[in-house]
Amino acid sequence: MAQTVDNPHILLVPLLDVNWLVFAPFDPARDHRIDPPDVAKSIGETRSLCRKMRELTGGKYILSPHSGIYCRTGYYEGEMLEVYAEAVADGGELCVHLHEEIKGGGVRYGEPDHMEAVFLDCKKRLEAVGIAPVAYRGGHYAYAPFMNRLLEESGIFIDCSCAPGMEYPDRQAIWTEAEVSGYYLPRNPRGPGAGQAPSKVFEIPIGSDGEGSAYANILHVEQSDLDNLKRIWGVIRERARRSGQPQIVHSLFHTGSMGQPELVERFLRFLEIVPGNGGTFVTTVEAKAFYDAAAAEARA
Ligand SMILES: [Zn+2]
Repeated sequence: MAQTVDNPHILLVPLLDVNWLVFAPFDPARDHRIDPPDVAKSIGETRSLCRKMRELTGGKYILSPHSGIYCRTGYYEGEMLEVYAEAVADGGELCVHLHEEIKGGGVRYGEPDHMEAVFLDCKKRLEAVGIAPVAYRGGHYAYAPFMNRLLEESGIFIDCSCAPGMEYPDRQAIWTEAEVSGYYLPRNPRGPGAGQAPSKVFEIPIGSDGEGSAYANILHVEQSDLDNLKRIWGVIRERARRSGQPQIVHSLFHTGSMGQPELVERFLRFLEIVPGNGGTFVTTVEAKAFYDAAAAEARA
């Protein structure tokens, strides 16, 4: 993975959200509808997507299973854990992914005791079957400032919650000062990095054109189209070229989309363009190691 300034590059972590279709706590147009998950169906969808990823990315990806107010342990128990173990054996990773939205009103992301309890329970469930989660991700890009401390104390040093430019204070999702490529979150993750000590938490943001955090601006596969995903990819690649800095980002796809062939097709087409267009698939741990090595080299 050696990189030079003349060899601009994008390190892409394909992030797969393990979820089900109807979950719309913030959407009045859908009456904040939340259907109960069909976990058995999700198990099949997750397994089939992971097998595709083994072929397409050599097992470079991270699974982000939903645990939230309306499905606390469904994706953190039983046969689903066997699917995760298979994914890890193929080279994949797991993060803990919390969804603390209250249907039609507010979130619990800002409650330290609650967040600590649910986070540690998910972590423990994965560890009980021999899977060490390597990262965290907040639902709807939420990340309260105390998360830095909670993650550090838990031995988790990677976060994937960031959508650069996002500003939803009522969802605890404030990324107005965030970087568009992997970086260490400052002590106050909502403030500018300049003048602040870094935390130990390495942030891998969703890939973005840097023009905003709407669906059209980010590598959210389902909420885009192939041309727009290619456009964003081009912007990120150009940023790498201009800055001479490899860009570290993730893309977002959901296992709940596996029943929709046109969405699966879009995701596969997107992944296909990556290797021929300056991209390398990596895990989050590889991305962080790459960044750390480059920083050590720059200091030497
Ligand atoms: Zn999610």
